[in-house]
Amino acid sequence: MSMPDAMPLPGVGEELKQAKEIEDAEKYSFMATVTKAPKKQIQFADDMQEFTKFPTKTGRRSLSRSISQSSTDSYSSAASYTDSSDDEVSPREKQQTNSKGSTNFCVKNIKQAEFGRREIEIAEQDMSALISLRKRAQGEKPLAGAKIVGCTHITAQTAVLIETLCALGAQCRWSACNIYSTQNEVAAALAEAGVAVFAWKGESEDDFWWCIDRCVNMDGWQANMILDDGGDLTHWVYKKYPNVFKKIRGIVEESVTGVHRLYQLSKAGKLCVPAMNVNDSVTKQKFDNLYCCRESILDGLKRTTDVMFGGKQVVVCGYGEVGKGCCAALKALGAIVYITEIDPICALQACMDGFRVVKLNEVIRQVDVVITCTGNKNVVTREHLDRMKNSCIVCNMGHSNTEIDVTSLRTPELTWERVRSQVDHVIWPDGKRVVLLAEGRLLNLSCSTVPTFVLSITATTQALALIELYNAPEGRYKQDVYLLPKKMDEYVASLHLPSFDAHLTELTDDQAKYLGLNKNGPFKPNYYR
Ligand code: NAD
Repeated sequence: MSMPDAMPLPGVGEELKQAKEIEDAEKYSFMATVTKAPKKQIQFADDMQEFTKFPTKTGRRSLSRSISQSSTDSYSSAASYTDSSDDEVSPREKQQTNSKGSTNFCVKNIKQAEFGRREIEIAEQDMSALISLRKRAQGEKPLAGAKIVGCTHITAQTAVLIETLCALGAQCRWSACNIYSTQNEVAAALAEAGVAVFAWKGESEDDFWWCIDRCVNMDGWQANMILDDGGDLTHWVYKKYPNVFKKIRGIVEESVTGVHRLYQLSKAGKLCVPAMNVNDSVTKQKFDNLYCCRESILDGLKRTTDVMFGGKQVVVCGYGEVGKGCCAALKALGAIVYITEIDPICALQACMDGFRVVKLNEVIRQVDVVITCTGNKNVVTREHLDRMKNSCIVCNMGHSNTEIDVTSLRTPELTWERVRSQVDHVIWPDGKRVVLLAEGRLLNLSCSTVPTFVLSITATTQALALIELYNAPEGRYKQDVYLLPKKMDEYVASLHLPSFDAHLTELTDDQAKYLGLNKNGPFKPNYYR
């Protein structure tokens, strides 16, 4: 495995810009650019609703999770071969001990540890940035003394993150942020390695909170850092153990929903520790939106429909980051791609990239596939669905299931036939069938996997955010929500370059002076995305 060149850990935090609230920031065009981007992705309307009601694990988590976190649902967690063969006894009822005699965990079956270890080793192959971070920072142990309580998906990829944090000196207690996504064998491998992990696939709602509670509420151990994905852990600590915040140095939050909750707490003056918004880091967003969708759109479509794309007519609604990724993949396979857009700039970009920009009505009768990626609602209406040709495939890559008006298809004259997992044929009285995927929910997250490399970007960003918050001198961060400094974002990217044997050009002194830059970065202003 190739290691990055010896680049020092950046002087973290010094250029950190606080992510000010939108209203304030809009007074200044510079900050407005920085802070508007998160708003776009955060889906305020949906999240606002979700924030007001206490989450239930089944419904909300599967729909409102952040992008990379949900990579572990459905197909990817199907990589867990362990569930059906296990007995039905709740892990809470079992007495289990790892090979070193520890009982400080609760997993489905500790005997699966060896298999889980292999899964973790496979993930490590594509997460060399974290392995490299382990090696570079091991001498200084930047997390020595850190007691991290975590709540994320428990998969091979997050196991690489957790073990990196331990290698950097942290003690970790971990639960799952989704009741279905835990890879049981991976949880077992972590428990065998000494991590206090409380999670299994198929937890009940009560189990879910019990696991979180076991992580937080432990005699003789008190967390001083939180790593959360969805905000449930943070919420639990606020609700049940507010005193814990006296010792907490910071919260690192990954998901759209969790970040939104933090901004709301901050706005209400209730955030009592600094928090790092990892979700809106530039590197993470680019990978989640553009590159991840470019990789996974075809995977999702092919797994569900076996469709061949060469010569197919596809209309993609929305030419933002996600739309661009989808179109690039479809074009590469020889599909004829049409775009719909409301924004003239994105429409012009589509023209420059060689796509026809049309209104949906103009092409709806002829297209073979309709893909929505707008983040908007009712982009595909019942009227459009009525006019589609037989066997037209309809799916959504946007955050919520509002883009296609699926509810309008629940009428007596239409028949629904579930033909495969995540595939419904909706049949009109004349026999016409429309192929609806994942009932209009995010196609790639429902029907395919997310590449480990994408998760590596997120995990590395999380690790650096923890290191930064944990080591920051008093006063550097106030009780507010911060974005990761540009320089650290650049560092995350630089850690991933060696995988491609990419060689960065270094600025000469003269060039650095000419551009007004520090030779070691940051190389772009904060608003550059
Ligand atoms: P974006 O804002 O960059 O792009 C959305 C585009 O849709 C914009 O250009 C906008 O002008 C256009 N648009 C809005 N309403 C429209 C309409 N009625 N008709 C046509 N075009 C319209 O956002 P993005 O980063 O591309 O994300 C899009 C959605 O995908 C969001 O909901 C986001 O949360 C989600 N997302 C999904 C994944 C995934 O893995 N599937 C990953 C990241 C983000």
